[in-house]
Order: sequence, then structure tokens, then C-alpha cells
Amino acid sequence: MAENPKTLPNGPQPGITYPLTVVYCGNCSLPLEYCEYYPEYDRCRAWLQQNLPTEFEKLSVSGGSLDDENSEEKKRQKRGGKGMIKTKKKEGPKQICVSRATRGKKKSVTVVTGLNSFGIDLKVAAKFFGTKFACGSSVVGEDEIVIQGDVKDDLFDIIPEKWPEIDEDFIEDLGDQKR
Ligand SMILES: [Zn+2]
Repeated sequence: MAENPKTLPNGPQPGITYPLTVVYCGNCSLPLEYCEYYPEYDRCRAWLQQNLPTEFEKLSVSGGSLDDENSEEKKRQKRGGKGMIKTKKKEGPKQICVSRATRGKKKSVTVVTGLNSFGIDLKVAAKFFGTKFACGSSVVGEDEIVIQGDVKDDLFDIIPEKWPEIDEDFIEDLGDQKR
């Protein structure tokens, strides 16, 4: 995780009692005050609300008068604007499917679908597979790549290796499919 030190507060902060007790977030494992820089801040907040309701309250309504809090909130929003990492839109369940299809009498092709649901550029992926397996590989549908050759079993190792966010468990083997 690369943090942007420029956007992080430095030195003693108003309204905070020192020495600091650092509480770590169960979602992103960062100290709580860093959560807002984490892409899954929503999930951090959810975790906090469930596990540390008192800390959650503090984040929502931290000490000081209401006016102070409001201006502080505005500052933070401005500051966070550019550095904020946007979470990719989640559409539907994430699932990669791989299957083998026969083409002609001897040739097999491998079909990969679902990479789009992980926000992966299909053209990049197709090119990667082509290079990796030294064979033809092309985008054929909205979220479908066809690789020339039977490489289905290899994909279970290669996909998580190339895209660590995709666990092997996300890949479903559909076996042999008729096309
Ligand atoms: Zn967090």
C-alpha cells in the first residue's frame, strides 16, 4: 500500500489527547486515522461500527464544538479530493469462468470469461495469455477471451499470479463446453 505522505496530517493535531493510543483497523489493518485514505473506507467504517462503536462515534462526531467539526470536515474533504483512490464499481458477482471447447477434430481452445468483473482490461489480458502460452489469444465478446490451445489447467496458476486480487477460488472450471 503506497500512502501519500503529503495528504497525511503531521505533528500534534487539535482535539487529540497525547500520548496517542493507536488503534488498528480490522479491515485494512492500518491505524484508524488512515482508514479514510484506504480505498475500502466504507468497509473500514462498517468494521469499526461493528467492532469499536465508541471509536466509530468519535470519527463521526469527534470532540470540539460542532462548528469546529464542520470546518475540519470541509478541510478534510478538500484535502482528500485528489489523493483519494476511487474504488472500482462493483457490478454483479465476481467470477472468472474457464472452459475448454473443441474446434475441429483435434484442436481445443480455452475460453475465459469474467475478467471484466475484476476490472481487468481484456485486451491486455488477451495479449498476456498469448505471450504466456505462445499461442493465439483474442477478445471475442464483451467479457470473453479465447485462447488457442488447451491451457485451462494452467490458468488456475497463471491468473492469480498475474492478478493477485483474483484468488484461485474465484475461478470456476466449467469443463468442456460445446461451442
Ligand atoms: Zn481501515
